[in-house]
Amino acid sequence: MSTALVTGGGRGIGRAICLALAQAGHDVAINYAGNAAAAEETRALCEQAARQFAHTVNDDRGGGARFATFAADVSEAQGVESLFEQVEATLGSVGILVNNAGITRDALLLRMSEEDFDAVLDTNLKGAFLCCKRASRNMVKQRGGRIVNITSVVGIAGNPGQANYAASKAGLIGLTKTLARELGSRNITVNAVAPGFIATDMTDAMPEEARTAVQAGIALRRAGQPEDIAALVAFLAGDAASYITGQVICVDGGMTL
Ligand code: NDP
Repeated sequence: MSTALVTGGGRGIGRAICLALAQAGHDVAINYAGNAAAAEETRALCEQAARQFAHTVNDDRGGGARFATFAADVSEAQGVESLFEQVEATLGSVGILVNNAGITRDALLLRMSEEDFDAVLDTNLKGAFLCCKRASRNMVKQRGGRIVNITSVVGIAGNPGQANYAASKAGLIGLTKTLARELGSRNITVNAVAPGFIATDMTDAMPEEARTAVQAGIALRRAGQPEDIAALVAFLAGDAASYITGQVICVDGGMTL
C-alpha cells in the first residue's frame, strides 16, 4: 500500500476519492485550501472506511492506514513544496498523486477578467504541474508511482462561459499525455479522468434551470455522484491498472457521445 496525496480532498469529488483510496488500504494525505472543518470530516470518514477495509481483509491490526489533513494553496510553488515536506514527514513519500483541486470563475469571453483567467489557470493547471513535478522526484527514485489528473469533459468539448476553465482542463490533458511519455520508463503511470456533471458544491452553485438543461443532455438523464469518479481513480491507482497510461477517461453518463 502507498501514501496517496489528494489535492482538494476535503469536499466533493476529492472527498470521495480519499474515501475510495482509504477503502483500498492506502494512507491518505488530504489537502485543502481553506475549509479545515470539511477536511477534518473527510479524515474521520477515512478512518471509518479503513476500519471497514480491515474487517473485509480480516486484518486484526485495524488496517493500520493513516490519514492527515494539510492546508496548502496548490497554485503557489512554496505552498506545494511545504505541503510535500509535511506529507513526507507525517506519512512518508507520495506514491499516488491525485490532482483534484479546482475552481471555476465563469463569464463569457468579453466579460472575463484577466484576474479570473489567471486564477483558474493557476489553480487547475499550474497547481497540477507543481504537484506532478514535486511528486515525480521521489517516484522516479522509487521507480514507480501513479498520477491521476482530474480534468473535465469541458476540456474536450468546450463550454460557453468557461474559456478559462476549459483551457485549464484541456491543458491538463496535454500535461497528462506528456508526463505519461516522460515518466513511463520509470514505471510511473499518468492518466486523466474527465467527469461530466457531478453533484457537488461546484454544480450546486448553478441555477436550477441550467442544471435541468444540462441533465436533459445526458444519456442517463441524471447527474453523476462523486463516488462514480472515485471508483475509477482508485482503480487507476491500483495494481490492476499498471498497464494503463496516458489515457483520458470520461465518466459522464453519456454526456459527450
Ligand atoms: P468542489 O468545489 O466541491 O471542491 C473543490 C476542492 O478543491 C475543495 O476541497 C477546495 O478546498 C479545493 N481547492 C480549491 N482551490 C484550491 C487550491 N488553490 N489549493 C488547494 N485546494 C484547492 O469541487 P468538485 O468536487 O466539484 O470538483 C473537484 C474537481 O473535479 C475539480 O478539479 C473540478 O474542476 C473537477 N470537475 C468537477 C465536475 C463537477 O461536475 N462537479 C465536472 C468536471 C470536473 P476547500 O475545501 O478548502 O475550499
